[in-house]
Amino acid sequence: MTYDVLNPATEKVIRSIELASEAEADAAIARAAKAFETWRDVTPADRGRLLRRFADAVDADLEHLAALEVENAGHTIGNARWEAGNVRDVLTYYSAAPERLFGKQIPVAGGIDVTFQEPLGVVGVIVPWNFPMPIAGWGFAPALAAGNTVVLKPAELTPLTALRLGELALEAGLPPGVFEVVPGKGTVVGNRFVTHSAVRKIVFTGSTTVGKQIMAGCADQVKRVTLELGGKSANIVFADADLEKAAAQAPYGVFDNAGQDCCARSRILVERSAYDRFLELLEPAVKNFKVGDPSDPATEMGPLISAGQREQVASYVENPAFQGTAPSGPGFWFPPTVLAPASERAVREEIFGPVVAVIPFADEADALRIANDSEYGLSGSIWTRDVGRALRVSRGVEAGNLSVNSNSSVRYSTPFGGYKQSGLGRELGPDALAAFTETKNIFISTED
Ligand code: NAD
Repeated sequence: MTYDVLNPATEKVIRSIELASEAEADAAIARAAKAFETWRDVTPADRGRLLRRFADAVDADLEHLAALEVENAGHTIGNARWEAGNVRDVLTYYSAAPERLFGKQIPVAGGIDVTFQEPLGVVGVIVPWNFPMPIAGWGFAPALAAGNTVVLKPAELTPLTALRLGELALEAGLPPGVFEVVPGKGTVVGNRFVTHSAVRKIVFTGSTTVGKQIMAGCADQVKRVTLELGGKSANIVFADADLEKAAAQAPYGVFDNAGQDCCARSRILVERSAYDRFLELLEPAVKNFKVGDPSDPATEMGPLISAGQREQVASYVENPAFQGTAPSGPGFWFPPTVLAPASERAVREEIFGPVVAVIPFADEADALRIANDSEYGLSGSIWTRDVGRALRVSRGVEAGNLSVNSNSSVRYSTPFGGYKQSGLGRELGPDALAAFTETKNIFISTED
């Protein structure tokens, strides 16, 4: 079965790709299971070296990968370069891991007790369309470093960079079967990863609805699972903040990648005494946000991924306070939009588009109450000049990734993941490695 991959900025077909059937998914899993038998015993130094060569191959192909993502996902060229660079950096970071997968020696009576971190086997990585490259890398790089083999399923809409990464892995010298890219439907290939007994862990990034189905599916075989799901993050602005800076930065915190970002700060909470001033400052920043041709380096926001996504986003917008501009088409364009006030639905649900609700709050306690009144808990920001308050509020927000006076959410060397229905487990940083290993304990008697 073939699938026409579109350019969302032009609505033109870029390429037709073959979607894998269930039998083809089974064959890829079988190749990965076979490759595991030797990959797990590749020396740590050699495994690290191969991952560095993979990172070098990504670096050498960076402009090509970035151009593919501009074309396939409508990402701005600046973002797409960062995303390809992030895959290189994550591979480089985890290339040091094989020689540092330390176990423990634990004092016990009557002998010596040691623990080992052992690989799981085949890891299934299932990726959404919004950040096809980095999200794939956050799964496959630590999985491979820990000695697992990987089957990767990109989203139907955005398979092109994943397919290229598969080629680069082979060119870099990874043995065939160690890293298999299997484009296909979620309900066919993704579901097969979940049900196949040779796949020992699923790393899923996507919607909370599908994440729940995957978690339930994994229960059948007590399969290990890491979930990175939706978000409705709060950007909390106190009256004592640098309001000019907070307002100038706020559009980047929510309109980046056209708002199709699990970390989008899609609720801006502003202390009531600064609310009117903040909106005054926000309006020109939103109206001047540069929306258009994603291959132009000056562009700050491209199109949405599909006509369906645009329809979904539009359903949340009624009487906007103000909007930026967007091209008329072809392409799945939507203007940056500010809702103040916003409907209950727009405040609660993940819109996954360039739409933000601006909400006033009375004091610190009220800010925390509103920020935490969500089923999600992925990310967020706090803008204040008071260090004590910054720490108090950061500790009070129920979310996995917070930043103070910044929009930043992701660094490859620090843990990333959500509280509540935003996910389960953590990716990136040193913590992620443990999630790709089993701990084995061995006791050796020293008694005569
Ligand atoms: P989605 O849940 O529709 O699909 C994600 C992936 O799962 C795709 O590859 C899809 O083919 C596959 N899939 C769908 N049904 C499946 C099934 N029954 N079994 C196995 N696989 C299946 O999500 P999407 O629309 O592609 O992505 C948007 C969502 O992803 C948003 O909710 C966003 O917040 C979330 N997201 C979360 C993070 C994070 O790190 N927390 C990062 C990016 C995106």
